[in-house]
Amino acid sequence: MGDFSLELNEDQLQIQKWVHDFAENVVRPAGHEWDEREETPWPIIEEAARIGLYSFDFVANCFLDPTGLQMALVNEEMRWGDAGIALAIFGSTLAVAGIYGNGTPEQHAEWIPQCFGTPDKIKLAAFGVSEPDAGSDVSSLTSRAVYDEAKDEWVLNGTKTWITNGGIANTHVLVVSVDPSLGSRGHASFVVPEGTKGISQGQKFKKMGIRASHTAEVVLDDCRVPGRCLLGGKDRLEERLARAREGKRTSSQAAMSTFEASRPLVGAQAVGIARAAHEYALEYAKQRRQFGRTIIENQAIAFKLADMQMRTDAARLLVWRAAWMAATAKKFESGEGSQSKLYAGETAVWVTEQAIQILGGYGYVREYPVERWHRDAKIYTIFEGTSEIQRLVISRAISGVHIQ
Ligand SMILES: Cc1cc2nc3c(=O)[nH]c(=O)nc-3n(C[C@H](O)[C@H](O)[C@H](O)COP(=O)(O)OP(=O)(O)OC[C@H]3O[C@@H](n4cnc5c(N)ncnc54)[C@H](O)[C@@H]3O)c2cc1C
Repeated sequence: MGDFSLELNEDQLQIQKWVHDFAENVVRPAGHEWDEREETPWPIIEEAARIGLYSFDFVANCFLDPTGLQMALVNEEMRWGDAGIALAIFGSTLAVAGIYGNGTPEQHAEWIPQCFGTPDKIKLAAFGVSEPDAGSDVSSLTSRAVYDEAKDEWVLNGTKTWITNGGIANTHVLVVSVDPSLGSRGHASFVVPEGTKGISQGQKFKKMGIRASHTAEVVLDDCRVPGRCLLGGKDRLEERLARAREGKRTSSQAAMSTFEASRPLVGAQAVGIARAAHEYALEYAKQRRQFGRTIIENQAIAFKLADMQMRTDAARLLVWRAAWMAATAKKFESGEGSQSKLYAGETAVWVTEQAIQILGGYGYVREYPVERWHRDAKIYTIFEGTSEIQRLVISRAISGVHIQ
């Protein structure tokens, strides 16, 4: 008894500070420029790789933290700097999660380091599930993988959409159907290595926010990958498909297992944006004078700031709980991962909107960062499962009822 604590340990504090310094000195000052340019911020990614932040070792080390908090702390600090640039730097980690969640130890060792490359030869990775007609409903994927036994190759066809780093990534990890009659139980994850023919970028999207992050379609046209690119291997797939055909429960569904593990980390990102906006608005409200007093002296403004602080802190606590539960293999009983992502995402949207209000006209123009933070925050109610889908997960978990 007595050893419960929310205090961060020395290692966590040290890494948190190191990432914060990078976010403050390199990422935040570049946020406006790359939002306007709507391009991948290569110089910043290079700098992150040079100091070892964008590296296999760093990310692997974070995931070794037994409390599960380290990666959440890193995600919060980076998004405090700038959400678009942070996703441009760390978008590859979604593919890492896909490989980690579905691959064998040999596949982890072969493919995960290739998602990062080295400071001299930086590599990016992408993770693709979504399709034009399969967003929230991932069971309806139409992209197909067919096995060519003679060559021990898989032939991939279809179109993926909204893919972060899609087409510019060196390595793509794609969830594709191998048996459409089984819905999401017929999915499998494939690595499409660098230099593979038959994979190309479709349209690049112009977005509302996180504009430094590249989002595009990925087109698969008779794209052939060797048999060893099937994550988990053929035997495990056959076994899983056989169980699904018999109507038995399968242990994991390819896309879902990836999303489940990453939701608290996505929540941590939203907390970072909310914190940035709250801090900025608080400072502003202490400086800005109207009617002969600072605007924070009005309860209307001060109470907003109190609520912004409270909701941001509450979101962080939900994130920490879910990250800790995931790391310590506690069973999610009431959609705790979804709760953290849902609450943090909606908090970021709400807090950034309050920040605009507190800055008045200055909040609405691009010379100040809060309108960008609001545009960036909005994605957190959409990607990695929309807010509605998170509510479905939570309500089903707490009720046991298959709510539609
Ligand atoms: C910038 C960006 C980056 C992205 N990056 C990636 C990526 O790297 N990899 C990837 O695979 N995907 C990525 N996505 C895709 C993202 O995950 C999807 O956009 C998201 O899952 C929603 O799918 P959809 O856009 O098709 O919306 P839809 O599923 O069509 O949803 C439309 C609306 O209907 C609601 N809705 C749908 N079903 C239900 C239901 N059963 N009950 C209640 N409401 C419902 C939704 O909540 C939403 O409000 C990205 C998207 C964006 C915008």
